[in-house]
Amino acid sequence: MPGRKKQTNRVLILITVLLCILSGAVCTRSSSELTPAQSQNRLPDMIVADSETGTSDDTGKEDPFSSPSVSPTPAPTEVPAGSQVALTFEDGPDIYTERLLNALEEQDAKATFFVVGDAASDFPDTINRILNTGNELGNHTYSHETLTKLDSSEIPYQINDLNQVIEQLTGTSTDLLRPPYGAVNETVQENSDFPIILWSLDSGDKDTSEIGDIVQKVLENVKDGDIIRMHDTHETSVAAAEVLITELKNRGFELVTVSELARSKGIDLKAGEIYKNF
Ligand SMILES: [Zn+2]
Repeated sequence: MPGRKKQTNRVLILITVLLCILSGAVCTRSSSELTPAQSQNRLPDMIVADSETGTSDDTGKEDPFSSPSVSPTPAPTEVPAGSQVALTFEDGPDIYTERLLNALEEQDAKATFFVVGDAASDFPDTINRILNTGNELGNHTYSHETLTKLDSSEIPYQINDLNQVIEQLTGTSTDLLRPPYGAVNETVQENSDFPIILWSLDSGDKDTSEIGDIVQKVLENVKDGDIIRMHDTHETSVAAAEVLITELKNRGFELVTVSELARSKGIDLKAGEIYKNF
């Protein structure tokens, strides 16, 4: 019967529509349940991947976890741990020496000052400040004579006369000799009761008034154990020293006195022996 057939068809269509609606609801429900589950699983995956590889995932989003795994490029100027150098200043003290002592103090750095007689007498407070701030006083002879041109009998006077001045001013004496101009021979060695301290790196500060040239020469050549030669009698030298003290510290050098450098390197200083570095 056609009427009954029509009714059956309607029921079939209704059932089909209902099934479709039901299946659609199930699909929608399951997908809405999966979404938070997926995001929960993805987050830890992403952290692990990023912390291991340092790469961002393929979502194209900005990755907050990648930056810590990228290590900064180390500065090319850094030196091995424990590197030490000794800054030495000749011919002072002078009017610029206090400024130099300020710079050393600010950077917790130490230096050695090879002084001469007249200058020491002229700046007694500076001589005492050098010692009281943990810096070292060395002997540069009383009147800056070329010791190799003196008779053997004259050499001890040059050393001892300076020592007497220092003793009167400070109550202590020097025990290192820097011969003027670095002039040494066997006679000087035989007549020195002190170790003879030369240098391994001359800053060239007496040959130029260009602060940048002095700084550059030292920084391009400096290495662990160096004794660096400068003069605190020139304003440009002291200005260069101010830069060097900061820059050497930044590069990892510890700035110590000559005696500290020798001790630190296990060198037992001997009278009349020549030392250029440690
Ligand atoms: Zn000198």
